[in-house]
Amino acid sequence: MKELHSDILIIGGGLTGLMTAYALSPLKKNIIIIDKFDFGITKDANADLRTTAIAEGSKIFFEKINIWPQFSKYAEPIKYIKVVDRTENRKINFYNKNTSQYLGFIIKNIDLKNVIVHSLKTKKNIQLINNVNLKSLAHSDDFIHAFCNKLTIKSKLIIAADGKHSTVRHLLKTPIYHKNYNHSALVVNFHHTKNHNATAHELFFNSGPLAILPMKKIRTHLFSSSIIWSHDKSSVSQLKKIKPNLLRSILEEKVCKYTGIIKKIVDVQDFDLSAHINTKFYDKRLIYLADAAHSIHPIAGQGWNLGIRDIQNCLKAIQDGIDLGLDTGDPYVCKNYHDLSFADTYILYQITDKFNSIFLKDSFVSNRLRQLGFRIIENNKKIKNYITNFAMGI
Ligand SMILES: Cc1cc2nc3c(=O)[nH]c(=O)nc-3n(C[C@H](O)[C@H](O)[C@H](O)COP(=O)(O)OP(=O)(O)OC[C@H]3O[C@@H](n4cnc5c(N)ncnc54)[C@H](O)[C@@H]3O)c2cc1C
Repeated sequence: MKELHSDILIIGGGLTGLMTAYALSPLKKNIIIIDKFDFGITKDANADLRTTAIAEGSKIFFEKINIWPQFSKYAEPIKYIKVVDRTENRKINFYNKNTSQYLGFIIKNIDLKNVIVHSLKTKKNIQLINNVNLKSLAHSDDFIHAFCNKLTIKSKLIIAADGKHSTVRHLLKTPIYHKNYNHSALVVNFHHTKNHNATAHELFFNSGPLAILPMKKIRTHLFSSSIIWSHDKSSVSQLKKIKPNLLRSILEEKVCKYTGIIKKIVDVQDFDLSAHINTKFYDKRLIYLADAAHSIHPIAGQGWNLGIRDIQNCLKAIQDGIDLGLDTGDPYVCKNYHDLSFADTYILYQITDKFNSIFLKDSFVSNRLRQLGFRIIENNKKIKNYITNFAMGI
């Protein structure tokens, strides 16, 4: 079987693997990135039709590594966020007073991936290999070996970016904390009549949250948005099966106050919702990034933003190692990355989990407590600014 050599092997060519390869490319290391599919950029059954809310903090990193100019063509800014709990009487409006910064940006995942893949193809030290499925791992003195369906790859360091159901994690038996929400998210991209005015809505219903995210306008006379509706699994699977006209009227009932008439449903996809965090983000000559290390409820649109922080920490840990004269897979590099990423992630994991359960509770007491909480936050600039900065990741 063919054997390849690399300094760094990235397993998984989703958003994380691709962005990691791009961010590490200036280190001039020989990097191979593999994916069991085709880097998810075609519109087939494996395509990711979601949009991602990019926080200001991530955007600042993208500017630093010089990929933001390409992303910005596809980005719709979020200027306002409106959070509504059950009724319009209970709402909080967030905006950022600093006009040079937005609350975030919405970009389609397909556009993000296309931009990165296109840039990676121009880098001489990066090799993209698709349709390669990792099967097993082994160590020798100074290397880690990945055995795949078509080839083996010998590397100094493996970066596991193979997602929530990470094959690497299963092979190495890395323990995790796990939570199943018994909910799925229905993702619907659609065209509508009312101007979204760069506003994102988070509507909390008894059954679960529904987010409306403003998308970049692609048809001149209509506006576009994306809905992420968390609901119990059976309802989501029913909603996915029904005729587009019926889905349109069900959604319109929920959102037409904000979007006007839904003219066309463009994409519909569903995702099981669960959360997990690995008990450690590293192993021998290996580090876990983003969803391979942790996944959280999409309620606050922070999952990949947390992954971007991992990428920054990974870059720092490897650079620190190089400065110390260590090789890329040295135990110091792997442990240093874990120390930089784990604590922050654990805190956000807990916050999003509790946040979700607070909004699902529907007793008299919890309703009154939320009512009080909403009033305090809406009227207290300091708390509001704190939450705004937190959401912006700055
Ligand atoms: C409904 C929903 C909405 C979301 N919205 C937001 C948002 O607005 N903002 C935000 O920050 N985050 C959001 N997230 C989270 C975000 O989507 C994820 O964090 C992100 O997509 C993770 O990307 P990844 O590359 O780490 O993993 P994945 O996208 O899962 O990619 C893993 C890759 O590894 C490959 N792979 C797997 N196993 C193997 C193997 N054995 N061999 C080779 N390759 C392999 C797969 O083919 C895949 O391409 C949302 C999540 C959900 C569910």
